[in-house]
Amino acid sequence: MINVTKAYLPNKAKYKAYIDSIYESGWLTNNGDLLKELEVRLQAHLGVKHLILVANGSLALQLAYKALDLKGEVITTPFSFVATTSTLVWEGLKPVFADINPRSFNLDPVQIEQHITPHTSAIVPVHVFCNPCDIEAIQHIAQKHNLKVVYDGAHAFGVNYKGQSVFNYGDISILSFHATKLFHTIEGGAVITNDDELAKKIRLFINFGITGPITIEGLGTNAKMNEFEAAMGLCVLDEIETISAQRKHIWQTYQTQLEGLVEFQALHSHANNNYGYMPVLLKSEAQLLKVQIALNDNGIFPRRYYYPSLDMLDYLQTDQVCANSRDIASRILCLPIYPGLTKEKQTEITNIIIESTK
Ligand SMILES: *Cc1c(COP(=O)(O)O)cnc(C)c1O
Repeated sequence: MINVTKAYLPNKAKYKAYIDSIYESGWLTNNGDLLKELEVRLQAHLGVKHLILVANGSLALQLAYKALDLKGEVITTPFSFVATTSTLVWEGLKPVFADINPRSFNLDPVQIEQHITPHTSAIVPVHVFCNPCDIEAIQHIAQKHNLKVVYDGAHAFGVNYKGQSVFNYGDISILSFHATKLFHTIEGGAVITNDDELAKKIRLFINFGITGPITIEGLGTNAKMNEFEAAMGLCVLDEIETISAQRKHIWQTYQTQLEGLVEFQALHSHANNNYGYMPVLLKSEAQLLKVQIALNDNGIFPRRYYYPSLDMLDYLQTDQVCANSRDIASRILCLPIYPGLTKEKQTEITNIIIESTK
């Protein structure tokens, strides 16, 4: 069975050595040595100031909203993984959708501005499939209307925009380190900010607001990453160059083999791709279903990332309709891409697509 991705398992001996060290120290979680090492290494690797490791990407988003004290309405994208929106609802905020640009699949700044009301407190854009948003336009709108910006950068590990990390823009950026992501810690995530005060606040939040044996300095929750997860992160980070190179090769092969048959996402010219996803756009939902069935019949399971468009979520009870997002969501397919996907399999996948788009 071939899935859209396959969780990357790094060198086993190295991981075992870390596990041995955890057994020896007896320190399993709570700001352990491996977690501290991973934080420092990730800050250096990504080129960011404060990176706080947390239990998962969804909690990273929730911590960001809380740290910025968001209230009322938040403008976000309907074309994303459900967590971008569900975390807002979970924190008592109202997601308001602006439509996307059908070429970049990212929030359209004109649409953002049209949805601002006196209740709007923030914008939560997503660098979808690692493609940076229209950062300058969003920055301009946020300044003009005094709004906070939280970038959901779950897909954007290792992406640089105009010479620096894409995570250096906005008030806070978040990452997900779930097993299916490009860089992972089994479950995990990170909150990234340049602001010392925000970083301090978030560090308090993730450990119940506890600051010492008998001191609690405010409301907090539990969002800690443990040592076993940090150890996985250290091992995967050691191999990240190989992972990227292999993904790049697969991505480029798809581009060549499918050129003219499907449409590709328009990628920002001032940024690098991390090859985390291989989204292709079919001509119609009917064509997509035909391709999907043909692939499934051969044990190949691409995913419809992201379907449904989030403005269709029942529990939101919204009457918003984002036409571009719904159109893209209805005919986009993410093809298998991960280290270890063989050239033969890939050719089989593209041949099936060529046959079923005829
Ligand atoms: C994966 C993902 C999340 C959630 O991260 P978890 O670590 O799974 O909680 C949030 N936003 C986007 C865009 C994602 O792809």
